[in-house]
Amino acid sequence: MKTLYIFNRDLRLKENKALSMASKSDEISFSYLKPNDLDNMSEARGKFLIESIKALSESLNELGHKFYLFEEKPLEGIDRVVVSKVYNTKDEKIIHSIENWAKTNKKEFIVVENSTLYHTKDLPFSVENLPGGFSSFRKKIEKNDLEFNSAGEVESPSAFDLDLEEVSVLYSKYENVEGNKNFKGGESEGLNRLHTYLWENERAKTYKDTRNGMVEFDDSTKFSPWLALGCISPITVMNELHEFEEKIEKNESTYWIYFELLWREYFKIYSLKYGDKIFEVNGLGKKVFRIEDHDDPKQLYDEWCNGNTREPFVNANMMELLKTGWMSNRGRQNVASYLSKHLCLDWTWGAEWFETHLIDFDIESNWGNWNYNAGVGTDPRDRIFNIKKQAEMYDPLGEYKSTWIN
Ligand code: FAD
Repeated sequence: MKTLYIFNRDLRLKENKALSMASKSDEISFSYLKPNDLDNMSEARGKFLIESIKALSESLNELGHKFYLFEEKPLEGIDRVVVSKVYNTKDEKIIHSIENWAKTNKKEFIVVENSTLYHTKDLPFSVENLPGGFSSFRKKIEKNDLEFNSAGEVESPSAFDLDLEEVSVLYSKYENVEGNKNFKGGESEGLNRLHTYLWENERAKTYKDTRNGMVEFDDSTKFSPWLALGCISPITVMNELHEFEEKIEKNESTYWIYFELLWREYFKIYSLKYGDKIFEVNGLGKKVFRIEDHDDPKQLYDEWCNGNTREPFVNANMMELLKTGWMSNRGRQNVASYLSKHLCLDWTWGAEWFETHLIDFDIESNWGNWNYNAGVGTDPRDRIFNIKKQAEMYDPLGEYKSTWIN
């Protein structure tokens, strides 16, 4: 049996269920599915991605394997193709195309759930019956005390060669750009961050109190970039967190990290359920999103993108994003609310800007949160952020603001 494994947003060897399944083969070869937007990313996002691919390539090379760039062309001598499940319709179209390619070429095609804490079949509801709001989703999950969708061991079948280019052809565009020095892509870098946050700095003890902070790196976990590309699994995060709770401390803060990971989980299932709707301006379609009739909406949008609005707090956040590829959750909520409910511009423009720039860009979390903040998702309160109040509350001394604007 010869298996082709296609990596996508699962760029890791550890706690990788699809990989452990694929590795039960006589021979295996590894390839990478290049994202369509690779050439249109901010330097910070592109660099983080390339670092993650490169790190995985090095790990595979050490195990005696090459890492190829996947292409839909006739590839001889492969019996089956294994990929991780995707959760949104844009990715699904690509995976369907690979499935057709595999079937046309008489190869078995296998999809394995691999990116979430829980397997969809173990959820206490079907995807179609996902509870309306996050709170009922969370309560149902917690009540049922589900087991994680953990991976088994990865075996070591021997390598076989393919008539494909290697992933190193992708490196040149972002290799020499500066990027964001706080985040380095790759599995071991993600595991290092987990170790530093939990065991060295013991910041999980105080997560709930600091998570809205905008200045200190350790205010929140900063796990999201590695989670977004699958360099680490949320199951690895939870296993370490449980160990921390046993050995060091278990409190409301440690629980709250799990609570936030459930948001990530929620938006994956939400994207599965609602399909293309998450990308539409009216979102789930329960109401019509109000776009105001401005003389020059594109100019207002440019001002938002470039941190030139009337709100210094919005501007500081947008400058941080532009310069680093990062913005805190508090910042994201404020700038999204400002664009969609104050300027009343088409919120999908904002989601696209985030998509280009965020180092931790994750289709489901990004579009799901934008739906929610623009009031076209499942927020039962449909809040409008009072930006000035938020600035007073979360940046009372203007420390954050002065870091990013004069
Ligand atoms: P922590 O506060 O330490 O939380 C731990 C983990 O929980 C995060 O790493 C993340 O995986 C998960 N998480 C926390 N909050 C959320 C949330 N609201 N939704 C989904 N997962 C969450 N997150 C992304 O990973 N990628 C995105 O593209 C993205 N776009 C967003 C767009 C908007 C408009 C908003 C409001 C939020 C967005 N988020 C996105 C969610 C959230 O802002 C980030 O996950 C978080 O700021 C990452 O920082 P952290 O790892 O320190 O999070």
